Amino acid sequence: MQAEIIAVGTEMLLGEITDTNSPYLARQLAQLGIDIYYQETVGDNPQRITALLQQASQRSDLVILSGGLGPTADDVTKRTVAEFLHQPLVTNAQAKEKLTATAARLQHALTPNNLVQAQLPAGGEPLPNRTGLAVGSWNVMQGTIYVTLPGPPQEFKPMVSEQLIPRLAQHTHKVLASTMLRFYGLTESVIATKLAPLIDAQTNPTIAIYYQFPDIAVRVTAQAADHAAAEQLVAPVAAQVKDLLGDAYYGTGEHGSLAQVVGQQLIARHLTITAAESLTAGEFQASLGTVSGISAVFPGGFVTYAPAQKTAMIGVPAATIKQYGVVSRETAAAMAEGARAKVGTDYALGFTGVAGPDTLEGQPAGTVFIGLAGPQGTTVQEFHLLGSRNEVRARAVAWGFKMLQN
Ligand code: ATP
Ligand code: MG
Repeated sequence: MQAEIIAVGTEMLLGEITDTNSPYLARQLAQLGIDIYYQETVGDNPQRITALLQQASQRSDLVILSGGLGPTADDVTKRTVAEFLHQPLVTNAQAKEKLTATAARLQHALTPNNLVQAQLPAGGEPLPNRTGLAVGSWNVMQGTIYVTLPGPPQEFKPMVSEQLIPRLAQHTHKVLASTMLRFYGLTESVIATKLAPLIDAQTNPTIAIYYQFPDIAVRVTAQAADHAAAEQLVAPVAAQVKDLLGDAYYGTGEHGSLAQVVGQQLIARHLTITAAESLTAGEFQASLGTVSGISAVFPGGFVTYAPAQKTAMIGVPAATIKQYGVVSRETAAAMAEGARAKVGTDYALGFTGVAGPDTLEGQPAGTVFIGLAGPQGTTVQEFHLLGSRNEVRARAVAWGFKMLQN
């Protein structure tokens, strides 16, 4: 099925409002496996809307218009669509009832133009509007479906998800299953390159890559006649994606949750953790704090920003800092070891680096060393992280979790 979205509203052409309805709808249609080939914006003008409808009827199976269902003279969408379909506008009894009841409750007299909100092109099916008064419509002419929906997003969005999408799902006789795999530590371009052969070879399931700071997420979506069949298509491809991206995989879910995933792993394995943080200034420990039950494995830790406090609080030798610098492999190792010795945990992380924007000790912004001290000894990783000061700090925190996970 090939779809086309037409956003109606002169305000959008003038740049007064931004069209948020079309991207929302496009995402929902894509989830159903419906291809969107065209999106247009047009003013509240019957001739130009008609011209677009004519064009759409030649090339699309589904044409969805948003906006211009209201009662005022500039709301022309419904009567333009009705004329295009060679149908009169007819009143939908339920929508009229809602309009009348609302007017009575607000003690307003109904004006004739209000009744337009309860009308739709004859032969069509109403799409009820739970959060507003203008009824939507679904008409079919020569195999093409024409849908009208109101412009205000608080009406448009529920009508899309509650009315339109279920109808379309029935229409396409397809059910979708999808999974969102989450990765940290590889760039989007590296992931795209590694997955390219798999992506090119697949049409069902499809594989899409999303950048959701600081994660990269990969969605695998399949369509089939029923849910179990769709899930069976997703599972092997999701496994292949994980294989190709190796250690960068950290979990599955719609939202980023590296701290949650790693925190829960620590709790499940009864592994205790502490940290000494310089550039992240407690962000790592604050993230630990978001994990329910973390107190079982996280007794506390340190924010050691100034060099003197690294020595005073966790015993980093002043000579180490003097010889190698604050931002160094050696200091990161000594911070992790010092914190671990003080609190007596299984693992400890030491974060030191240059958040930026200025350089420090001649090291460019984004240079970060993270030490991980544990029962098997201490390892340090060096990173060169991109982004603003706070992005560098957030990426450093995420790397800390990733080092613990791996
Ligand atoms: P109303 O009954 O409120 O007039 P309507 O269906 O006639 O609704 P419009 O008049 O086109 O819709 O738009 C009403 C308001 O809804 C706009 O002023 C704008 O704030 C918002 N709106 C309309 N279309 C969009 C869109 N595509 N994206 C985001 N907001 C929109
Ligand atoms: Mg309007």
